[in-house]
Amino acid sequence: METWIQVQEEMKCVICNQAETVPGLASTLLERGQMALTVNNIPARVCPYCGESYIDETVAATLLGQAEKMSRAGTKVETWDYSQALESLPG
Ligand SMILES: [Zn+2]
Repeated sequence: METWIQVQEEMKCVICNQAETVPGLASTLLERGQMALTVNNIPARVCPYCGESYIDETVAATLLGQAEKMSRAGTKVETWDYSQALESLPG
């Protein structure tokens, strides 16, 4: 079977330059002033060679927006699941 339309999502890892990244899950720590927000299970592309993860720009922007809000609300330390971050978005 041949695939005629192929989504070009392959991206070589820029850290180790040894492998193509594959879809996976990542965790990240966002810091805003006194606040530290850890977000787990973020859809990302992960390098199978060195483990470096690459989070989509729009995803990262969403998380930063959440971190900003929480910082203003006075939150100090929080751990979230990515789905939780999406649920708390206004609208
Ligand atoms: Zn790598």
